[in-house]
Amino acid sequence: MKKFLVLFGFISASLFSQQKTNTTNKNFALVIHGGAGTILKENMSPELEKQYTDKLNDALKAGYDTLSKGGTSVDAVVTAIKILEDSPLFNAGKGSVFTADGKNEMDAAIMDGKTLKAGAVAGVKTIKNPITAARCVMDKSQHVMMVGSGAEKFAKTCKCDTADAAYFFEQKRWDQLQKIKKTEKTELDHGSSIKASDVEFNDKKFGTVGVAALDQYGNIAAGTSTGGMTNKKYGRVGDAPIIGAGTYANNKTCAISCTGHGEFFIRATVAHDVSALMEYKGLSLEKAADEVVNKKLKEMGGEGGLIGIDAKGNITMPFNSAGMYRGYMKSDGKKEILIYK
Ligand code: ASP
Repeated sequence: MKKFLVLFGFISASLFSQQKTNTTNKNFALVIHGGAGTILKENMSPELEKQYTDKLNDALKAGYDTLSKGGTSVDAVVTAIKILEDSPLFNAGKGSVFTADGKNEMDAAIMDGKTLKAGAVAGVKTIKNPITAARCVMDKSQHVMMVGSGAEKFAKTCKCDTADAAYFFEQKRWDQLQKIKKTEKTELDHGSSIKASDVEFNDKKFGTVGVAALDQYGNIAAGTSTGGMTNKKYGRVGDAPIIGAGTYANNKTCAISCTGHGEFFIRATVAHDVSALMEYKGLSLEKAADEVVNKKLKEMGGEGGLIGIDAKGNITMPFNSAGMYRGYMKSDGKKEILIYK
């Protein structure tokens, strides 16, 4: 009897482990962006180009390692975004741009395509990695979005690291703000024909970061993190933390993270539009994303792009601006890091 039980235990254990391996799919992948905008080769030194490429590579590798070790797509998104948030090169976390009154107000969101759960924070000033606060809202609250000091208070329940204004201060970002402000002043002083909206968003190196991933279990997720736009009005919230605008994920269709002039992305509900074209019209990821970025958004005057992945591991990275920091890494060995058109 004892022998029979041991044998039974052995058979069921091996059946179970077989079942477990059957539910995993070795086809996993990750796609990232570090912002879209007027990124031209002639304005870039080889050293700076290398810095961007190296950092994108670090983020891609870290996210990929998470996936290859069996981590979920949500884990991979957070891991890769944290690396970009910690770099002053990108407009997120450490490298966040300044508001009109000289503050850093950051937005971030994450969405799990398997459960359709989502979490977002907006206007946070003291969270070192806003993507971790967004995940905290998704995992630990009954809400989707929290803002300002409430979001900061809630992030403490997840022990998210905090940082003060000095940590986020970057001279380059400060100078960008002064430059934009000077143009505004000229407008006031001389009544030039430059529209305030043109001036505010003149420095079109948006620099937001985003990641979309497919894990070994066939689940997709997307996340986005940003300091917003230089000289944005205090309290302004962009598209990044708005589910369906700058960030969206649904296993049935795609996982999307956007970058560009947020007001347009909100009005065009860009991320969800890509998903909707796939779900209701049966378009492929590539066709749907192209339709939204290069037709709808462009016709509205919205500059920027997006990255997307579907549950089969198809990847797309369209943009209608001069450049977009972007890259992907797939379990079939394919990998690319690109900046210009
Ligand atoms: N979409 C972001 C925002 O409007 C900016 C960016 O992508 O760089 O806040």
